[in-house]
Amino acid sequence: MNIHEYQAKEILRAAGVPIPPGEIATTPDQAEAIARRIGKAVVVKAQVHVGGRGKAGGVKLAKSPEEAREKAQAILGMSIKGLTVQKVLVAEAADIASEAYVGIIMDRASKRPVFMVSAAGGIDIEEVAATTPEKILKLPIDPRYGLLPFQAMRLGFFLYDDLAKARAAARIMGQLYRAFVDSGCSLAEINPLVVTPAGEVVAIDAKMAIDDNELDRRSSIAVLRDESAEAPSEVQARNAGLTFIKLDGNVGCCVNGAGLAMATMDLVKYYGGEPANFLDIGGSSNPEKVVNALRIITADTNVKAILFNIFGGITRTDDVANGIVTATKTNPLQVPIVIRLTGTNEELAMKILTENGFSASSDMDEAVQRAVALATGGKAA
Ligand code: GDP
Ligand code: MN
Repeated sequence: MNIHEYQAKEILRAAGVPIPPGEIATTPDQAEAIARRIGKAVVVKAQVHVGGRGKAGGVKLAKSPEEAREKAQAILGMSIKGLTVQKVLVAEAADIASEAYVGIIMDRASKRPVFMVSAAGGIDIEEVAATTPEKILKLPIDPRYGLLPFQAMRLGFFLYDDLAKARAAARIMGQLYRAFVDSGCSLAEINPLVVTPAGEVVAIDAKMAIDDNELDRRSSIAVLRDESAEAPSEVQARNAGLTFIKLDGNVGCCVNGAGLAMATMDLVKYYGGEPANFLDIGGSSNPEKVVNALRIITADTNVKAILFNIFGGITRTDDVANGIVTATKTNPLQVPIVIRLTGTNEELAMKILTENGFSASSDMDEAVQRAVALATGGKAA
């Protein structure tokens, strides 16, 4: 789960990280009022779940409350990477002498939280990592001990030569690590961490992604979910108990089990197609789940063909067949569908489908090739 910058800042502020004050506005009027309360130059920032807002015109400085209103007017409602801006953060503007990057990610390779810090902050860290990796210090943290003081100082000195600044940064590293662990993060990032002309070290941007598996035991974090800022299809899928990730291709995939869903996407690509989504209807699927899955897949106008790939273990393939029949009766399909199923109650499933005018096969390669051909109008290999 992604949370907004302003929410991440609240968590980090509570952990002690120095962050300029700010408030949320949903209208230009509110933005002006907040800027007036702050009484200094402000920065107006789009609150959407993507990076690179600055480059997209979603971060603007304003010297007066009137200007804050104008900037908010321009930013509210704008679209950044497909997401509409519904809220802006109006924060006291910082004067910047230098910008650094500080982040922690949960790393699969080392199976640990890994700090990544760089004095080349502000811009895309991916670019720094690709072109000048020596400018990034990576430091895995043993979760049994947490961030030890000498490690924090090492990170601080990698960013700043000056002792006072290195110490200030080290303190912030500790606070960020605490927040990362306590909030169940898979990623926590401050970019940029800035030094002001007065020599203070402050965080002016924050990003946190929470591991969904950590939410059940963290109700105060779970409530931070902003469904209005998420892809509508992903919200619908979650509420229907489906695991769904929207992708950019045109083969809509409906699969049971995450492993088979991954294998299906691989095979779609292997045969020259592009999956429109990852969708796992789960182990013991009932017809209702299939109905929901089809509704979500067909809502995506990119989808040119639908591929069902079901391996019946706990899942009964006749349940899936009934789901397909029910769903397409209430909501006739506008695109072709290719059905592959095998396993539990396979014969019954085939019978249900054939009686209702569908064809189905039990061969995965064949089904995927057909779906790719239908989606690409026969152009794929
Ligand atoms: P992002 O583009 O989504 O990462 O948004 P950021 O909050 O990181 O802002 C992008 C850039 O805008 C920063 O790297 C800064 O250069 C600039 N910026 C953001 N906030 C301030 C501020 O308070 N004062 C000044 N002078 N520049 C800012
Ligand atoms: Mn940033």
